[in-house]
Amino acid sequence: VLTIDGVWKNFHGHSVLRGIDLEVEPHEVVSLIGASGSGKSTLLRCVNLLETVDDGAIYLDGEEITDPRANVDQVRRRLGIVFQSFNLFPHMTVLDNITLAPRQVHGVARAQAEEQAHGLLSRFGLANKAKAYPDQLSGGQQQRVAIIRALATQPRLMLLDEVTSALDPQLVVEVLQIIRELKESGMTMILTTHEMGFCRDISDQVCFLDGGVLVEKGPPEQIFTAPEQPRTQEFLRSVL
Ligand code: ATP
Ligand code: MG
Repeated sequence: VLTIDGVWKNFHGHSVLRGIDLEVEPHEVVSLIGASGSGKSTLLRCVNLLETVDDGAIYLDGEEITDPRANVDQVRRRLGIVFQSFNLFPHMTVLDNITLAPRQVHGVARAQAEEQAHGLLSRFGLANKAKAYPDQLSGGQQQRVAIIRALATQPRLMLLDEVTSALDPQLVVEVLQIIRELKESGMTMILTTHEMGFCRDISDQVCFLDGGVLVEKGPPEQIFTAPEQPRTQEFLRSVL
């Protein structure tokens, strides 16, 4: 689905991504872990073309999206993105939040977009919230709506950046559940997380970043029980 090939990103002469190589296969869940400032969000932002890369290339389904001639809107239409802060439109109902992009960006008719939205809301336990406004929902419910909104355009790849870190612990569980269900449905995802238990549980591949370098990657059993690199070992000792 996605190939990241030797990606470098500099801010003010300082490199925050240093030659990242990563391959994401269909239906795979890839987690990015690492200390604050290690470059996890920047890497997701490069995939989403919110940042331009300074060297290297990124391919989505074989097409180079970092090519300056690539159509940014078309690329973003194939990606679903959810951030730590839910970014729902406060003046719109849940239903309108979810149907906005399918209707306006993808040209889906209102009735069809709403039918699909109702389907997603019931699938994720929010059937009775369609008419609610975001401030009438709990943080966990808002984040679930944000995930549903990203799903509504049927993305090829979901990018989830710390989607649980603004939530109270009891609300984290319901958001993790939704991500588990997405995995079971075969969705390809790249996520960043500080929840190591969840990461171990859900990931097919775990990537440890340190200072913009992808130090080590592998299946969770290997990374969490037998990391090879001293920097990975040190990081895991500090967080587990
Ligand atoms: P966290 O776990 O805290 O979310 P992160 O791994 O997501 O951290 P990034 O947000 O990717 O880290 O930041 C990586 C580095 O890039 C940091 O040193 C940060 O200060 C720097 N950085 C990120 N965005 C910008 C920007 N727009 N301008 C300048 N520096 C930036
Ligand atoms: Mg981040």
